Formats: sequence, structure tokens, C-alpha cells
Amino acid sequence: MKAQLVLRNARLLQHQGPVDIVVRNGLIEEIGPGIRCDAVDDEDLEGKFVFPGFVDSHIHLDKACILDRCSICAGTLEEAVRETAKAKAGFSEDDVFARASSVVRQAILHGTNRMRTFVEIDPRAGMRSFEAIKRVRDRFAFAIDIQICAFAQEGLTQEPETEAMLDLALSSGADLVGGCPYTDPDPQAHVARIFALARKHDVDVDFHLDFSLDPSRTDLPAVIEATRAHGYAGRVTIGHVTNLSALEPQARAVIGRTLAEAGIALTVLPATDLFLMGRGQAFNVPRGIAPAHLLAADGVATAIASNNILNPFTPLGDAALVRMANLYANVMQLGRDAEIDQVFDMVSRNPAEIMRIVYGLRVGGPADMVVLDADDPRSAVRTSALALGGWKAGRKTFSRPRARLFDDPASGLEG
Ligand SMILES: [Zn+2]
Repeated sequence: MKAQLVLRNARLLQHQGPVDIVVRNGLIEEIGPGIRCDAVDDEDLEGKFVFPGFVDSHIHLDKACILDRCSICAGTLEEAVRETAKAKAGFSEDDVFARASSVVRQAILHGTNRMRTFVEIDPRAGMRSFEAIKRVRDRFAFAIDIQICAFAQEGLTQEPETEAMLDLALSSGADLVGGCPYTDPDPQAHVARIFALARKHDVDVDFHLDFSLDPSRTDLPAVIEATRAHGYAGRVTIGHVTNLSALEPQARAVIGRTLAEAGIALTVLPATDLFLMGRGQAFNVPRGIAPAHLLAADGVATAIASNNILNPFTPLGDAALVRMANLYANVMQLGRDAEIDQVFDMVSRNPAEIMRIVYGLRVGGPADMVVLDADDPRSAVRTSALALGGWKAGRKTFSRPRARLFDDPASGLEG
């Protein structure tokens, strides 16, 4: 019987030369050079790099693409929260569905096939955004697995309705819970209540944390303490933590080792952190991104993610993680091969580990694959390589033809 699919001349991380990949019943059946096999679909990848796909561990689908209804003057975090809160009150379920769908389409076309989205649930958003994102999760399940994080963006202790709504969401399809202590009048109680919800529903936790350049203002000790107290090592992620960028190396290393020991992962969001941080300075503006690669050296699980697309937090973006990796490497002044390899891991295998997803191309495993217009991950990051095609369970989910140059025939050259 014919195989479902064979990809020929694919370059994989763990193999020296190009190999063929045979897929049957959605699973990888064989990997090796020059496999003789008949398949329904037979594709030559011409030596391009194939991997399991990009993983976006932190994105906000519900509030993407709202620049037309927000004004950006100061470009600060406070303004972004305020402007988005105003817009959010007017979100309808269909509106969220349409905007989120457009971002998910872009993400898929850029080679992302797993994502964790935050969804704000509070008296202004009601359950509308949550209902819309559940529809998005189902609509695009053919190409991407979406985790939904029920998220308290605007505090909890001063607005008890939010807690009941998060509880309801966790009983009706949310995968994990997220908090944001810095917008709560009582950050410590906020952390405690988010953990209480997580324990009640036995789900993971993801916090937006310490989003400033002032290391003395920190909610990190409360998160570390609660992680230990609840035995939640490996189940807690913190995002932004931009104040780590303002610490001298020794103090930062102490925090790195503490995070690693506590089993708390870190996601940095370069596009947002760069846009919002350092607004008080007219020149020599700080980068304001936590140096995730240095914290990784202390043993912290680290990822780079998109966060926001076209809203007051990040008025730029296309949901391309390879571009985020390239941006991070550039801003952090990384150039050596090993550093670039590490950055690629931070948009692929690391976020998969943080999201506790089985990841990797192996015989017997799912045929979830993406081919990039590059020979290897290193050159993919260096050139922001385009994704040329993707498969989920062996079924093709997208393709992008390579661009062609139509040369002047008088030059005597072709291609
Ligand atoms: Zn975020």
C-alpha cells in the first residue's frame, strides 16, 4: 500500500546529509537517505531544512489588530493597558474571531504550529473573547495546536467578578491560568489567588511580571515562594521580567539560579519590551529585554515569543517567530554560531518544553513538520528565512512558492 507522503532531500538537525521522510497514517514511518517508496504525495525539498515547527509560547490573539480604535501618544505600558481596556469593552465575539483568525493564519504561514494565547476575561471583555478564541482553536486545529490561558490583565483583588469568570473559563475549555500582579492593587494576593485557581483546576500558570526597568519593584519573590509551596516546579512561566535587564551580572545570576532551582521558565517578548521600555529617556534608550540567553546559562528554561500584534503594546508585527529570533539576536548582539543556534531553540524546542508539548521528528512520532528556505536553523535565524511549507499529521497545511527572479535575457544568465 502507498504511503501517505514522502518528503525527499530534507535536511534535519540530527542527520549529516539530506534524507527522505516517509509518512503513513499521520506518523513518521521511516527517515533515511534514498528510501525507495511509493506515496500518494511525493515532494522534493531540494535540501532545505525541515523541523517540527515554530512554537509561540506567548501571544494575545484577543487584542490583536486594533490600531484603528486606539491612539498611541506616550507609547508607555500604562497607556497601552488603558487604551486596550477601552477598546476591549467594545469587542464582540465575531470581531475577536475575525482579528484572531487573521493573526493565526499569518502565524501558520510563518511556520508556527503550536501556540499559547492569553485571553482576557473580566467584566469588560465578559466571556466574549474567550468564546471567540475557542472557535479559533477549533477552526485552525487542522494546522496549529492552540493552548488558551485565561488571563486577568487588569487586576483581580479589586474586581472579584474576574476571579469567578476565570474559574468558569477553567471549567469550560481554558488550558491554564494567567495573572498580572503589577496591575493589581495587591500583587501578593493576586499571585496567591491565581495559584489557588491553578490548584483547583490542576492547570499550569503563566504570569506577566516585573514589566519595568526598576529591579527594586518586583513580584518575583511571591511567585517563587508560591511555586515552591504548591510543588509547581516546571509548571510556572513568567513573561517580560524586563527589570532583569537592569541588574548587574552577579545579582542577575543569583536570580537565574533561583529561577532554575524553582522550575520557573521565562519568556521574553522583544517587540513589546523594546517598544514600551525606556520611554522616560530621551537618548541612550535602554534595550529593556531580559537577557534570556544569559539566564539560560544559569539553567532557566527560556523562550522568545510574539506577545502582541498591531496594538498599543506592539504596533508592529506579522506573527513571524523567525523574525523575533532575528530581532532578539540583533538587539542582544549575538553573532556566534552557538549563540544563533540557542536563539533558534528559543522559538522551537524550548517553548515546546515550557508548554509541555512532545516535540521532535522521530520514527513513530507525529508527522508535524515545517520546511524553511534555509539549509539549517542557524542560517534561518540569520536571514529571517521564510517558511516554504508545513504538514500536520502528514497533511499539507500551507505552501509558499519560492520567489523567482526574471533576469534580463540579454545578460545570458538564467534563474
Ligand atoms: Zn503578554
